[in-house]
Amino acid sequence: MRVVLFILCVFAFLGGVSVLVGAQSAIHEIEAFMLFLIGAVFLVGASMMETLGVTNRNLERIKDHLRTGIKALDAKLIAIARLLDSKESSKLPKTESVPTTVKGTCKLCGGVLEFDSKHLGETASCPHCGQETGLETTL
Ligand SMILES: [Zn+2]
Repeated sequence: MRVVLFILCVFAFLGGVSVLVGAQSAIHEIEAFMLFLIGAVFLVGASMMETLGVTNRNLERIKDHLRTGIKALDAKLIAIARLLDSKESSKLPKTESVPTTVKGTCKLCGGVLEFDSKHLGETASCPHCGQETGLETTL
């Protein structure tokens, strides 16, 4: 497209020159300058096309860069997610296996009871009075 515009520009310019050379009146000179003007318009159009083409090519290059960058980021994110998953799953049984001892009191004799937090809400026989009591924390 820009090549066509450039050729049109050259033709308009040459036409203007030929009209100017054979000019016999002011009208011919005006016609020649009109042709020069048209040639200038074509030249501007051609240069704009060229600029747009360069900009488009640059945009394509930037897009390619971004695409590869996004792909690399995706791969990294997936790796991080996998790492987090493996850490999470290796952490879970560990926290379960760690006993958390909590303190409570026997409802019947007031003796201090120590038991694993996973037995909360259950009933057990009190080591002080020997009776069944609910295991609750005293806060
Ligand atoms: Zn008791």
